[in-house]
Amino acid sequence: MGTGIDLLIIEDEVRLVGVLLRGLGEEGFAVRIARTGEAGLAQAAEKDPQVVVLDVGLPGIDGFETCRRLRDAGHWAPILMLSAQATVEDRVHGLESGADDYLTKPFSFAELLARVRALTRRHRRESAEALTTGSLSLDPAQRRAWRGTAELKLSAREFDLLEALMRRPGHAVSRDWLLEQVWDIAYEQRSNVVDVYVRYLRAKIDEPFGTNSLQTVRGVGYRLTAESG
Ligand code: CA
Repeated sequence: MGTGIDLLIIEDEVRLVGVLLRGLGEEGFAVRIARTGEAGLAQAAEKDPQVVVLDVGLPGIDGFETCRRLRDAGHWAPILMLSAQATVEDRVHGLESGADDYLTKPFSFAELLARVRALTRRHRRESAEALTTGSLSLDPAQRRAWRGTAELKLSAREFDLLEALMRRPGHAVSRDWLLEQVWDIAYEQRSNVVDVYVRYLRAKIDEPFGTNSLQTVRGVGYRLTAESG
C-alpha cells in the first residue's frame, strides 16, 4: 500500500541514496533525488515536496544553507536533517536553520523511517475544529494560522507548537509536555529546542504585532494567553 507522499532526498552519498531510494520506495513514498543543495532547491521549486530528507555535508552550499533557502523560498514541508556530527550544538544549528528533526549518521533505515513517518503523520494529521486564542486563530485541517487577518508563515514545527499551546490556552505548560506534544522523538533533557522554537514563534506571532501572548512562566515553562497588548 502506498502513501504517495512526495519525499525529496538531498544527499550526495551514492550508496546511502540507493538504500533510501529503495527502502522509502518500498514503503510507498514517491521519492525524488537531488545530489546537491542547489539541485534540491530547483526540484522543490518545480514541485513543493511534502517531506525533505536533507544531508548537512553536500558539495556546493551545505545542508544548513539549503534548509534556510528552502524556508526562505516558502517551502514548509517537514525537514529531517542528516549529519555525521553528533554534538548538541550541531543539532541546534540544524534546528535553527529551519529543520524539524535531526538524525546522526550512522543510523538504521528503521530509525530514519520512523522519523519520516512521525514528521509526515503529524503534518497530515487532521482534526477539524478551528482554534482561537484572543486574536490568534488556527485551522488544524488546513494547517493555516492567523493573527487577526494576517496569515502567519510557520514551519511545520512552529505550527505544531502553536497548535499545542492553543489547545491549552491560559494554562502554564512545561517544556517536557511541549516536547512530548510537538517532538515525537525524545530529545535529551538538556536540549533547548523548545526555547529555540518559542523564540521563533514569538518572532512570528507576537513581535510583528506588538503583542506579548506567549509568556514565560518562571520555573514552569510557557503560557499562551488571549491578552493582546
Ligand atoms: Ca553527504
